[in-house]
Amino acid sequence: MGQGRYRVGFRSIVGMADPSSADRTPADRTPADRTPADRRGAERRPGIPLGRVLGVPVFLHASWLLLAAFVTFGYGRIVQGELHLPDLAAYSVGFGFVLCLVLSVLLHELGHAVTARRFGIRVRGITLELLGGYTEMEGDAPRPGVELLVSLAGPAVSLVLGLGAGAAALVLPDNTVPGQIAFQLAAANILVAIFNVLPGLPLDGGRALRAVVWSISNDRHLGTRVAGWTGRGIALATLALAALMYAGRLLAPFGLIFLLLIALTLWQGATGAIRLAKISARFPLIDVARLARPVFAVSTGTPLAEAERQAAEAGLANAALGVADSSGRLVALVHGDAAQAVPDQRRPWVPVDSVARDVGMLATIPVELRGEAVIRAVQAHPGSEYIVTSGDDVIGVLRLTDLAHLLEPSRTTR
Ligand SMILES: [Zn+2]
Repeated sequence: MGQGRYRVGFRSIVGMADPSSADRTPADRTPADRTPADRRGAERRPGIPLGRVLGVPVFLHASWLLLAAFVTFGYGRIVQGELHLPDLAAYSVGFGFVLCLVLSVLLHELGHAVTARRFGIRVRGITLELLGGYTEMEGDAPRPGVELLVSLAGPAVSLVLGLGAGAAALVLPDNTVPGQIAFQLAAANILVAIFNVLPGLPLDGGRALRAVVWSISNDRHLGTRVAGWTGRGIALATLALAALMYAGRLLAPFGLIFLLLIALTLWQGATGAIRLAKISARFPLIDVARLARPVFAVSTGTPLAEAERQAAEAGLANAALGVADSSGRLVALVHGDAAQAVPDQRRPWVPVDSVARDVGMLATIPVELRGEAVIRAVQAHPGSEYIVTSGDDVIGVLRLTDLAHLLEPSRTTR
């Protein structure tokens, strides 16, 4: 359905799991949205790999199997009633329709993917799932015109497919299997084309609207916010439409659930887009030199409580605790979360070393880095703490929680 997913929240932007998981839903999970543990393991896939089409990796999400089963049986029974086929034949036709549908979705997504690639945007892959599919791209469109073309390429493919299938349905005799499938395909593709160009994120039309606002205002984030709000409007309209149709007995219970699921997915996508726009608008505020916490190093074997007392005494209660060797060289860094997890009564006994990590294991960030470059550096090396360096010298520690607080002050605590 949507071409690019919005990763909701700062932690998902930088590819970290949110420990609270409060705002996490299955719909938000994208491959870039993994936990550090996931990342350490083998590269996690968004679904069952189906191979490459035109060089683009294609995955099948498990939720698609639910759709396949439902359409096979639901549509099979309709065909059975209309064409008087035996069970097996009817369900085979139902399954044939499922394959036509998934092929339609794949072609829609390939429309986005191939257009994006043409403009130098790298495509990670296409995932087919319950409500359609999505194409994952690395990076944003460089300019509004490209965004507009990439977003409209998918619905254009669906429209062409729908018209082609419609022409076939007109030619093929009515009460035959091919005639039925052609008619259903025409209806499905034209519906997908029309629904997807509704001007609100996360729909394709929302990306198109963003491109237009971006082009007029010269502000991409404003475009995202506008299209996010219209997306919320479309989600509410879908909800109202579902309720009205159900009340007017125009919708079966399953249809109601399906429309509610779509409304919910739209609302989440729109909300995520608005939040992302707010976060991205604050990227220019990032300044590693200002965010870095000083390191207060103690000698190896010092108990945690004692190290904290010394730091507080030195007026550095906010500092990151480090462990220095006998020559005063910083060798390890106390891991903030691990240290915090140590119970009060054990703090006088637990040596700092046991909650510290070797500095060699931590990624470094140069102190002069600013703005979006910091986000890219953090994305490249997912972690919770970074060594801030100036040349060869360690001058501080950047904590991800501090960065999150800068970008989303209302949602995070330091
Ligand atoms: Zn699309």
